[in-house]
Amino acid sequence: MSAIASNLDTGSPVAAPSDTALSARARRLAMQHSSADALEILRVAIKEEFSGKIALVSSFGAESAALLHLVALIDKDIPVVFLETGKHFAQTVSYRKKLAANLGLTNVRDIAPDAAVLGSRDPQGDLWKRDADACCTLRKVEPLGAALEEFDAWITGRKQFHGGGRINLPAFEASETHIKVNPLIRWSKEAIGDYFTENDLPAHPLTTQGYPSIGCWPCTHPARADDDVRAGRWRGAAKTECGIHGIG
Ligand code: SF4
Repeated sequence: MSAIASNLDTGSPVAAPSDTALSARARRLAMQHSSADALEILRVAIKEEFSGKIALVSSFGAESAALLHLVALIDKDIPVVFLETGKHFAQTVSYRKKLAANLGLTNVRDIAPDAAVLGSRDPQGDLWKRDADACCTLRKVEPLGAALEEFDAWITGRKQFHGGGRINLPAFEASETHIKVNPLIRWSKEAIGDYFTENDLPAHPLTTQGYPSIGCWPCTHPARADDDVRAGRWRGAAKTECGIHGIG
């Protein structure tokens, strides 16, 4: 949906609702809760602002257990979207099942691309070799867009210390169609580690093999301890993001 719609009466462009209502709502929420901690941000989002219309999107990656644990403290039935790209490490698939069971999450949804679309656009399953952006669009962006249609807001695990376009993230932000809730923006790597320890959270098995950030196996590599946390993602390519944060 375009952020600028045409005024049918006058022919002049007018701001679409997303340009005003969603952006204003996100700014208001970010301001109101600028000093709130992660649990309070989640409580406000899940219980007050977007009750019944919010989902958590999780990769069940290296840091995901912290946010999943926080969300489970508030609502174990909240929809949790896991993008089943078909390219995950076996360890991630196993971890996703174990962690969801440990935390008592009852509504984890494995969202996969449509089989016919997959067969048509990536029949050999090797699109990632030729065009990683197209592969992410097919296996992540489009399925997530469809999965989010029933919601007004979604929760992400992005953090400012991950750098790049994340360093100025607010706790609430607007896309064209949704509000995105980012409760962990101010968490450091150390704070995440401490939270895992304090709550006895299981580590993703690949973290002990040098993977600080974990996505699909063709596009994820180990990184040195002093590297940027996302250095192992799409290593050697200009690509740094899968594209899901460019959508609703
Ligand atoms: S991360 Fe790699 S394998 Fe996964 S969807 Fe993107 S390009 Fe494809």
